[in-house]
Amino acid sequence: MANITVCARFRPLSSKERRDHGDSVCIERIDDEAFNLKDEKEGEMKFSFDKVFYDDSKQDDVYSFLARPIVRDVVNAINGTIITYGQTGAGKTYSMEGPSILECDDAKKGLLARVVAGIFREISSADSIKYTIKLSMVRLYLSKDNMQIKKTKSQGISLPEVTEISLSDIAEALQSLSSGICNRAVGETQMNVGSSRSHCIYIFSVHQESTIQKRTFGKLILVDLAGSEKVEKTGAEGRVLEEAKTINKSLSALGNVVHALTCGPNGKGNHIPYRNSKLTRILQDSLGGNSQMALLCCCSPSPSNASETLSTLRFGARAK
Ligand code: ADP
Ligand code: MG
Repeated sequence: MANITVCARFRPLSSKERRDHGDSVCIERIDDEAFNLKDEKEGEMKFSFDKVFYDDSKQDDVYSFLARPIVRDVVNAINGTIITYGQTGAGKTYSMEGPSILECDDAKKGLLARVVAGIFREISSADSIKYTIKLSMVRLYLSKDNMQIKKTKSQGISLPEVTEISLSDIAEALQSLSSGICNRAVGETQMNVGSSRSHCIYIFSVHQESTIQKRTFGKLILVDLAGSEKVEKTGAEGRVLEEAKTINKSLSALGNVVHALTCGPNGKGNHIPYRNSKLTRILQDSLGGNSQMALLCCCSPSPSNASETLSTLRFGARAK
């Protein structure tokens, strides 16, 4: 069976949602693993996940539950993937980065800063092994769809056109993340390439050098996915529509891969459709096999977003 943890997270109501609908929400908490969702069209449905983070959850609760075990594994050369999924405005980037990568308030730090600290903590406690940590960042959008992806026996999936940065400490790592591809202000001509229409991919590789065994490495990939909202709703045309279609295609490709992984032994005969999108090809060696994956389904609790929340939860439920 695949090692997949699926969680849902509800952010607090936004001030706009409060203005429009007061305190009303579309969910009813049952416990830390289940809730009912009320949708105008489809009625009331119960959903269960490995963990549900409600609006009172802390950034550290999310890290401890879904990321810490994966961080521990990556220093032991086991690959992992952490993905945030959901409609634009649902809290994907907040979960991944916090208010910003360089956030000083510890409580608000997102997964990335905690993962960085976790990796450095893990390697410092293993003093007989020498480690090097590298980071590459990719922003995947339509015009980048021709990006080269290579697969080799020793390195697994690699991206020859993407720069890898060596990280020597936490501060350097955070600085690189903060000035990195996903956070760099976009130029005039790229103004329409908003982060909601691209996947931001952060790849940490932790290389181990030991005298007793061969060089090995583990890879931990964090993905802040493009918004999963339906295209029709946004009234998109032309290039924007093309982009939206590409995003929908890659999100459903991801859903299909994860679903296939949960459907049986991940061996020969069980075809995993990695090749159907750039996204799933990049993730190929970090999903399935003995690697670990965590999916955080980010949702708005507002009745006005119930149908998008429902589709996000269905994506999550299919991954289980
Ligand atoms: P997304 O990346 O999914 O488009 P964001 O992470 O940018 O959404 O979140 C939208 C807004 O909601 C932001 O202003 C963010 O600060 C806020 N927000 C999201 N999640 C939380 C949370 N758990 N606690 C407080 N504010 C949040
Ligand atoms: Mg975002």
